Amino acid sequence: MTAGTDVVTDWLAPTDEQRLATVATGLFADRFTGRPDGVWFAPGRVNLIGEHIDYVGGRVLPFALPHGTAVAVRLRDDDVIRCVSTATERAWTGTIGDVGPGDPRGWAAYPAGVLWALRYHDTIAHVPGMDIAVHSGVPRGSGLSSSAALECALALAVAEMLGAPTDDHGRSLLARDCVAAENIVVGAQTGGMDQSAALRARAGHALLLDCTDFTVEHIPLDFTAAGLELLVINTNAPHRLADGEYGRRRASVERISKRIGPQLLRDEPDVDAILRTIAATQPVAVPRMRHVLTEIRRVDTVVAKLRAGAVADIGEDLNRSGESLRIDYEVSCPELDNAVTAALDAGALGARMTGGGFGGSAIALITAGSSDAVSQAITRAARDRDLPAPQFLAGVPSRAAHRLT
Ligand code: ADP
Ligand code: MG
Repeated sequence: MTAGTDVVTDWLAPTDEQRLATVATGLFADRFTGRPDGVWFAPGRVNLIGEHIDYVGGRVLPFALPHGTAVAVRLRDDDVIRCVSTATERAWTGTIGDVGPGDPRGWAAYPAGVLWALRYHDTIAHVPGMDIAVHSGVPRGSGLSSSAALECALALAVAEMLGAPTDDHGRSLLARDCVAAENIVVGAQTGGMDQSAALRARAGHALLLDCTDFTVEHIPLDFTAAGLELLVINTNAPHRLADGEYGRRRASVERISKRIGPQLLRDEPDVDAILRTIAATQPVAVPRMRHVLTEIRRVDTVVAKLRAGAVADIGEDLNRSGESLRIDYEVSCPELDNAVTAALDAGALGARMTGGGFGGSAIALITAGSSDAVSQAITRAARDRDLPAPQFLAGVPSRAAHRLT
């Protein structure tokens, strides 16, 4: 908490990894007795740019946060799985055989789903039972991907303990398995960006992920050296049932993107010409596809600017992305609009909603040293509009998943 002139802002400090491991180990000892075989960590993420284009094979540009989740794990010599978390009273005990599409329900679907998927894809030939204790420094359900942090920490733990490859290719397979866990066992639509960031990102870099084939490039991203900071704003917006909205948009742009073909979708310089063709048969889809086509090109622009060291210049692209999501894709909400507008009014170089929308988080590119002023302005604006008080995080591009102890 930082005391301002008239508002108090809520800051979430970067995760202290040793402390995270200590708490996870303490929970493990308390609930299972004894010590874990090891403790593994995976980070949450934010997406700098490339929103709602993962499912049409676009390129996205997330980076790993310095906030993450630890899992303390011990292998068992039977097939029993036990899961506990500091985030919930609800423990889960079952066997590998109990896990499948839609089972179990609740939070244990994430860890149990990972074990199921590792087996399903034959990444691990025989998955034994295990005891799993979770402790996280990532806010849940805020669009910062606490789900992938949990999945990926466990997937890396199992891979390292049971000898599956954990080089970048091995990690890409683990990311695929975590996506399957979330799609099939949890039953949530997720495209692979979160899991790729958690397992494959590099400190000081953004991860340029091609969602057609999951190849990656690491783009240097050092806000501090540019005299800047990236402020992450968790709006704490109430949960909205947006699955139907997401599904409708996704189905429509997937269908049209397939018809257009990957070449035109990604490389055609004349976006208006493509939109005119779409307008002839499906006029209602024009704004949605305008977002997709322009966002794909904005990612290329941002990557070029970052490669040229022009970090401050990406502010305008963040703004355009946010406007496109708000007006053409229609996935914003009052809490996100408030955060973006207040950040820009307080002097941010650029700001936009990040993640799927309808709540969750926003990002703002600000000058170094202005985070207190900007966060206070956003908090004050939320209070004036009777919106929830937001929480702030420093967006520092950080390491992917690794072992802690
Ligand atoms: P996000 O990934 O943006 O945080 P999701 O809805 O995708 O939001 O995932 C949040 C869910 O992941 C939680 O509701 C919970 O089921 C599970 N989860 C994440 N972290 C933990 C944790 N530390 N302990 C228990 N469950 C967790
Ligand atoms: Mg998630």
